[in-house]
Amino acid sequence: MFCYQCSQTITGGCRIHGVCGKDEDVSSLQDILIFGLKGICAYNYHAKRLGFTDPQIDSFISEALFTTLTNVNFDADRFLEYILKAGQINIKVMELLDKAHTVHFGIPEPTDVFTGTKDGHGIVVTGHDLLDLYELLKQTEGKNINIYTHGEMLPAHGYPELKKFKHLVGNWGSAWAKQREEFDNFPGAILATTNCILIPKESYRDRLFTCSVTGIKGVKHIKDTDFSELIKKALSLPKLKSRDGRKITVGFHYRNILEIADRLILLIKEGKIRHFFLVGGCDTPGERGNYYREFVKLIPRDCVILTLACGKYRFNDLDFGQIDGIPRLIDLGQCNNSYSAIEIVIALSEALKTDLSNLPVSLVLTWFEQKAVAILLSLLYLNVKGIFVGPVAPEFISSRIFSVLKDKFNLRLITQPEQDLRTILK
Ligand code: SF4
Repeated sequence: MFCYQCSQTITGGCRIHGVCGKDEDVSSLQDILIFGLKGICAYNYHAKRLGFTDPQIDSFISEALFTTLTNVNFDADRFLEYILKAGQINIKVMELLDKAHTVHFGIPEPTDVFTGTKDGHGIVVTGHDLLDLYELLKQTEGKNINIYTHGEMLPAHGYPELKKFKHLVGNWGSAWAKQREEFDNFPGAILATTNCILIPKESYRDRLFTCSVTGIKGVKHIKDTDFSELIKKALSLPKLKSRDGRKITVGFHYRNILEIADRLILLIKEGKIRHFFLVGGCDTPGERGNYYREFVKLIPRDCVILTLACGKYRFNDLDFGQIDGIPRLIDLGQCNNSYSAIEIVIALSEALKTDLSNLPVSLVLTWFEQKAVAILLSLLYLNVKGIFVGPVAPEFISSRIFSVLKDKFNLRLITQPEQDLRTILK
């Protein structure tokens, strides 16, 4: 344990500042704030790269980080205020990033993505940064290299300015945690644009490149989006062979969902759509993540499932069918596209003239890293109650703080799929 104020390593409390490090709950609140800020910074960084900034966001980041050095450390109520403010600022930064994405790459359109392979050289791109993908697509045009997305890059296929490149051919693999196996099997070159990159196996270390803020010791790093070395590497590697695949539909965005809002409201009023579930978030590796697959399989056929982030790979191979032409599984994109979910929920609440806690919408989230924390803080700021999270509570949330969140927001840990579904639909 260390003192949050002077960073001394301590046992039983800092000799200088006395109390810090002793109070598990204050430390927990501080960790929640710091992890939430990391998530906000990730969104802010992507937006800035695309030329979009907001001084209010930057100012909050400085202030909130500074509080972690001051006496506010010892005041749990002040920390709670900052935590909810972080949720509010996170909505602003997600909105800013959404604007940056749609101005640069257009409004996503529903698009079927091929999961097989095509004959020829290939590069697979993982991570979240659409600008890096765009630059790579420009630099590989006409070079006989097919580009595949991986993990959180999958939603890129829905953006008009990205899908216009004919050599963006499909998606390889699934969520971040399976990279080591999936990159091992990919014969071409690999580009990692952001976080959620694993230490590579030796079998593909020399085919892996990082860029932007990403870096791994012993792996070639690309500077200033000059991908020539990556392209050279891809051309020197064996070609992929043609292989069939299934299709995944991506490209839903709050703007194309709001265009059909009247139809959705009518279907709700006619009883054809009973409930919306938002099931997604950061996939947590391991067996316990299977909960989400089992849960969505049990969801009745008169319910719509919204999803986003890499947790969807637990179930996006299933066929959910449609309700009167509306797909039952609506993929809103990356964790970086969470703003779409918030816009849809707010629009439903306005159209149905009810507050968020009375909407026929339930959130069943999987969380793992910092952006998921920032999104959870936004939902708490919006006073969304009754969210289920899992597979386990993060260790940095003390049991007392979790109880506070449970009392105030009815935040719950997942249990068994059947039991949670019964609770939600009763
Ligand atoms: S959704 Fe979360 S866990 Fe998944 S790749 Fe994005 S940041 Fe990482």
